[in-house]
Amino acid sequence: MKPLSTITVSSDLPEALAPLRDLALNLRWTWRRQTVDLFRALDARAFAASGENPIAMLPMVSAGRLAEAAHDEAFLARMRSEIQDLRTYLDSGRWFQRTVPGAQGGDGASIAYFSMEFGITPTLPIYSGGLGILAGDHLKSASDLGVPLVAVGLLYQWGYFSQALDRSGWQQEEYRLNDPAQLPVRPVRADDGAQLTVSVALPGGREVAIAVWSAQVGRVPLLLLDTNLPVNDEHARAITDRLYGGDHEHRIVQEIVLGIGGVRAVEAFSALTGAPAPTVFHLNEGHAGFSGLERVGRLMQEGAGFAEAVAQVRAGTVFTTHTPVPAGIDRFEAAQLRRHLDADETGLSRLVPALPVEAALALGIEEGGDIFNMAQLGFRIAQRSNGVAQLHGAVSRTMFQDLYPGFDVPEVPIGSVTNGVHRRTWTSAPMDDLFTKALGHVDISALGDWSALATLTDHELTTTRDTLRSDLVTMARQHVKESWLRRGADEAELAWTEHILDPRALTIGFARRVSTYKRLTLMLSDPDRLRRLLLDEDRPVQIVVAGKSHPADRPGKEFLQQLVQFADDHGVRHRIAFLPDYDIAMASVLIAGSDVWLNTPIRPEEASGTSGMKAVLNGGLTFSVSDGWWDEMKDDEAGWTIPTARIEDQAERDRVEAEALYEILEQSIIPLFYERDARGMQRGWMTKVRSSLVTVAPRITAARMVRDYVTVQYLPAARSAAAFTADPALAGEFVDWKAAVQDAWPQVAVREVSLEGIEGGAAATGTEVTVVADVELGALRDTDVLIEAVLGEIDAEDEIIDPQLIPLQRGEDGRWAARFALAAPGEVGCTVRVTPQHPVLASRAELGLVATA
Ligand SMILES: *Cc1c(COP(=O)(O)O)cnc(C)c1O
Repeated sequence: MKPLSTITVSSDLPEALAPLRDLALNLRWTWRRQTVDLFRALDARAFAASGENPIAMLPMVSAGRLAEAAHDEAFLARMRSEIQDLRTYLDSGRWFQRTVPGAQGGDGASIAYFSMEFGITPTLPIYSGGLGILAGDHLKSASDLGVPLVAVGLLYQWGYFSQALDRSGWQQEEYRLNDPAQLPVRPVRADDGAQLTVSVALPGGREVAIAVWSAQVGRVPLLLLDTNLPVNDEHARAITDRLYGGDHEHRIVQEIVLGIGGVRAVEAFSALTGAPAPTVFHLNEGHAGFSGLERVGRLMQEGAGFAEAVAQVRAGTVFTTHTPVPAGIDRFEAAQLRRHLDADETGLSRLVPALPVEAALALGIEEGGDIFNMAQLGFRIAQRSNGVAQLHGAVSRTMFQDLYPGFDVPEVPIGSVTNGVHRRTWTSAPMDDLFTKALGHVDISALGDWSALATLTDHELTTTRDTLRSDLVTMARQHVKESWLRRGADEAELAWTEHILDPRALTIGFARRVSTYKRLTLMLSDPDRLRRLLLDEDRPVQIVVAGKSHPADRPGKEFLQQLVQFADDHGVRHRIAFLPDYDIAMASVLIAGSDVWLNTPIRPEEASGTSGMKAVLNGGLTFSVSDGWWDEMKDDEAGWTIPTARIEDQAERDRVEAEALYEILEQSIIPLFYERDARGMQRGWMTKVRSSLVTVAPRITAARMVRDYVTVQYLPAARSAAAFTADPALAGEFVDWKAAVQDAWPQVAVREVSLEGIEGGAAATGTEVTVVADVELGALRDTDVLIEAVLGEIDAEDEIIDPQLIPLQRGEDGRWAARFALAAPGEVGCTVRVTPQHPVLASRAELGLVATA
């Protein structure tokens, strides 16, 4: 029998301490140390026993202690100062209000952000790894910057599993119950005082009720949907049971609740609170793609046709893809989804009223017809989309090129916004003090120039790094001991765990989800060589590893077991440790304490990766394959890059790349770490650390990421969406125009192109050239098209690379022409092409129509 959500609010707090509850319920405390310290000061034992959970600790504090605190002027003053700080934080205008026209008056954009997981704090365990933590950091930075965002996710009854090991090092999974009373969430109350609910229909006419909770992340409300309600049957209650558990059917229903239930919840929430209804919908990965179908259905209920509704929904939708690995994309049997959309006699959906089922399915069905692809739906329902690093953007353009036939890969309209991490969350306290010292107390979330970090001295950095490393060693010893107790060892045999690792030795960290492409075991390729490095008397290396493998990922678990078995060896167990149950709390200590953050994915399969960014913020140095974020930021002054071997055979490639890994460690990293000047300072090392802080750190913050999303995606999407609402006829006009263009396109042709101003195929730089083309437009008008010269260097395959586009004008003779100067020397190619042009289009490739000479 599954437990029900309960909303027991056990408040025995004395009146004088009531603000503590407000502080606990706003997750701003997760990035404000002083508030955390206040809770710890209230009762350190209860705070620790609750898992550092302010909500759960309050009922655990004795009445005596509460009474004492309620009369402790010093405590009360601290509490008032924290609540005052929170109010100031919530009320003050921020970057968005300062920079976005109209934002002050409330008529700026409002964004709904959908994600299957959110990693904000370990006390709200509704995340599994990178994707969720990215979403959590997005909300925190959106809050810091004042971006008007409302987020939507699921409230799982069971957190993602906690990980233990058996004797042989095989992963064991255990699920812990999420009790809403212990979570930093509150029911959203409808006008009648009852918890707000929305519903979705399952096949067979069953309605599923969905309760809406909210967690407050600074200024950003996070709506969490929960089907575990007494009015639902067992099956319906289990929909939001756990993250990434269950089969395809279960996942579809979860995504229906998130996408369709989510749109309904946001709408009800806006109506209740008077918050502006979102005009931009950001889908963090394809999981919430069904939200687009719901929005199409709503417009159709108001009278729009399908194509018009899709055009309008697209205008306000942003889709972020997160995986370059096809297996990472959600794909369902079309028949399964068809059953859920549940067409009536007229072909309209019973799940999404007014939605024509077959037309909707066509948005995601792959060529061949049997599989519905959530990424494909994402690209079709969102006019703007992006990958999460430059390289990932490029890989995605190749991966999804087929959706934009006729266009070269660089023109596939998928951009990139490189991920970032929330600075205040991921900077350890001692390092944060150094930031404050160097950069001052200003709100640095919107500041680009961090060059003052170069003034940090060797001594300051060394002391800080030593502290962080030492904290890591202390934590690792505890975790290894606990792990062995769970693996069946006796306390008496475990004295050795108190002496593992050395607070002064070069410490390499490796922690992330254990999936095969991340190659956890690359470092084990030559075990003897690794052993020698670990056991070196004078210049030892030590390695701390953590990470969970998805319960169904057998190869991942095998990698993990291999590593654990290596680390179990008596000969090396004092130099390499595996810490079970990686989560945000462990990550902050592990990452901050590592001198070197190792990252060895198979390029280009790591879309971005973010843990290395967290290391940078703590003065750690990056040691990585040129993949994800490091591919665009790699810098020999700030870290080390493992070269990628262009070898087909994976085993051979692993061997070669591992060889490079050892070589760089032996030749560069170890010598530099142990090099000391006369005063015992690591001068060379700290010079690199300063470089990394000054040049890399400002570019990897979530503040930079969210600002990019606002300028590159949200505001343009809001403008596009506003054009449709401002002009109710626009959608119809656009759809008619598009149909006419598609009809006429077979007649469009570039007849003849000539270059005037050069003789015999050769010219000096600076030569002025005129390109002239005869273009047949059939039934189209000049304003329907963009006619451009495509000019650029030619590669070995005779393709124009990195082309420059020069618009042609119609001359009096009816021909199209443009004049330009040949700028750079080299073999230059030129052609002329025609693409459709309309104010609604955000990219030339959007309709997949092109005519070339
Ligand atoms: C940052 C983080 C991740 C993501 O790590 P990647 O380097 O992106 O794979 C996963 N889990 C936890 C707990 C993290 O803090």
